[in-house]
Formats: sequence, structure tokens, C-alpha cells
Amino acid sequence: MGEFELIRNFFAAAPCAQGGEGVVLGIGDDCALLSVPSGEQLAISTDTLVAGVHFADPCDPFLLGQRSLAVAASDLAAMGATPLAFTLALTLPTVEADWLQAYARGLNHMAQRCDLRLIGGDTTRGPLCLTLTVFGRVPAGLALTRNGAQPGDLLCVGGELGNAAGALPLVLGQCSAEPAIAEPLLAHYWSPQPQLALGQALRGKATAALDISDGLLADCGHIAAVSRVGLRIENHRVPTSAALQTFLGAAQAQQAALSGGDDYVLAFTLPAAELPTLQAEGWPVHVIGRVVEGQGVGLVDEQGRDITPAIRGYQHFRA
Ligand code: ADP
Ligand code: MG
Repeated sequence: MGEFELIRNFFAAAPCAQGGEGVVLGIGDDCALLSVPSGEQLAISTDTLVAGVHFADPCDPFLLGQRSLAVAASDLAAMGATPLAFTLALTLPTVEADWLQAYARGLNHMAQRCDLRLIGGDTTRGPLCLTLTVFGRVPAGLALTRNGAQPGDLLCVGGELGNAAGALPLVLGQCSAEPAIAEPLLAHYWSPQPQLALGQALRGKATAALDISDGLLADCGHIAAVSRVGLRIENHRVPTSAALQTFLGAAQAQQAALSGGDDYVLAFTLPAAELPTLQAEGWPVHVIGRVVEGQGVGLVDEQGRDITPAIRGYQHFRA
């Protein structure tokens, strides 16, 4: 099977590649064409997943398809953008029809869930690597950036943390757990749920936002740095799941929630006056701390004592 047959069979034929709102021209020409309503801006983000670095190789291609798009779509959620479309640059060592079929099915599944249309990409031979670029639209001036946190704002997260980090030894086959514990943790790892609706609900309300991919403490450091404020996190208010606590024990579960990666849950700062409405509307908003004058991210225990750990999260190229 050649490059063009592959694109036609597995990607151009996928339900998510059949166009939709905002897609003027999809797969098949030199560029795709998107239209953005006047008064809105285009939000764009790229994520690369390298075999052996970002996912175990071999792994289940259906799950990889889901996960590769979910991690990219999570950046749209973090900006408060409405999903439009995505491209897929696929580097493959060999063409295996079964693998491609399953990958495309997983991708399509997440695309339908996130309301994203596949509009193009590139297909090359080499070590397995996936680059996905997502496009969204957001009313001009209302994108949720990282730089607006104000002293006095609440620091919030959109859900339980640490599940995906907790799942990693299960993913890597280093240990096992009974299904009642393993299944919810593995679901978080393989099928993150980008918080797209929450991101859109936070437009005009949150003062800063991002999606947690490298661990809560590390990612909150980005908000603190660009907003030129300090963030004070209350350890006991960081939400973790029952499955994670049972699997790892309370102390390690907390560690996973603070420093483990791959959550793809939103973290955001919010003037306290905005909280009651969001909670009344049923959005998952967990207050975990506050924005303060100063710099950096501090962690405190229930008595207010500083318990900030030294190591914050994962960084490529760090010695
Ligand atoms: P070009 O040589 O002009 O860059 P290609 O031959 O690489 O174009 O691709 C042909 C068409 O197929 C383009 O519209 C491109 O966006 C699309 N395409 C290529 N690879 C993929 C893929 N993996 N998934 C979706 N669309 C793809
Ligand atoms: Mg090309």
C-alpha cells in the first residue's frame, strides 16, 4: 500500500474527515481551508508523541489514537476555545493495515467526542511518531491565557489529579491491580477527557488557565511566572480519586497528584465572586489554594506549614 492509498483508506475515509462547521476544504488539496466567524480568533496548538518517550511501543493502537488527539485537544480546552479541526502528521516504520485501522478508529472516536474534524496531515516513513495540530475558535480577547492571575484570586482545578501518573506502572506492565482499581486509572491514562466545555464556561471569568500535563506544581509554576504572582496550594484540598488512594496509599497518591504528569485537567485562577455561579451551574471546580503577592508555587499543609517539595515535574532535556 502506498502513501496515497493509506491516506485515502484510513484517514480521508474516516467519519471525522467528512468536513463540518468551519471547514471550507478538507483533505486532498495542498492546504485545508478554515473559516472563522468575524470577531473570533483562531487558537492553534501542536503536540508530538514519540514512541518510547510519550507512549510504550508497542501499545494498543486504538487507545493510542484516542490519547494522541485527547492530549492535543486539551490545549484548546485550556484556552477556552471551541474545537474546529485538526491535522495529523504520521511517521510510521512500516505500513500495517490492522494497526492503521485501529489507530484511525481510536482517533475518530476521540474526534467525534471532541467535535474536531480531520482536515489534513502528512505521512512519512521513520520511527513511530505522531504530531497533531488542533485548531479552535475563540471570541476575540476572551482566550484563557496564563498571564492574568491576580493576588486574591482562587486557584482551582477541574477534577481529580494523579490518576494517569498512578496508572503508569499498570500501562508499563510493571504491576497489576484488580479491575475496580485498574480500569478507572487506565481510562484516565488512555482516554483523557479534554475539559472543553469547562474551558468555554470559564471565558470572561478565569483570569489565567492551563491544562495540567507535567504535574500540578510544575504547571502552576508557569502561571505564577507569567502572571508575576505567587501561588499557594493547600495540600489537603488537592482532589484525588478513591481508586488512586487504594492503589498507591494516601501519601503516594498525593505525590502523584502534585507531581505526576498526564492529568489533562484544567488549572485556573478565578476571582472569588465568580465561584458561586460556576458551582451552581454544576461545573467541576475544586478550590485548592490562592494567588498571593510574590513569586513561585508554595505548598502548605492543613496547619499552614510550608511543605513545598524540591522536584516539581518532568522536563525533556533536563539533566
Ligand atoms: P503535499 O505533498 O502537497 O504536502 P501530501 O501528498 O503530503 O500533500 O498529502 C496529500 C493530502 O493528504 C493533503 O491534503 C494532506 O493534508 C493529506 N494527508 C496526508 N497525510 C495525512 C494523514 N496522515 N491524515 C490526514 N490527511 C493526510
Ligand atoms: Mg507531504
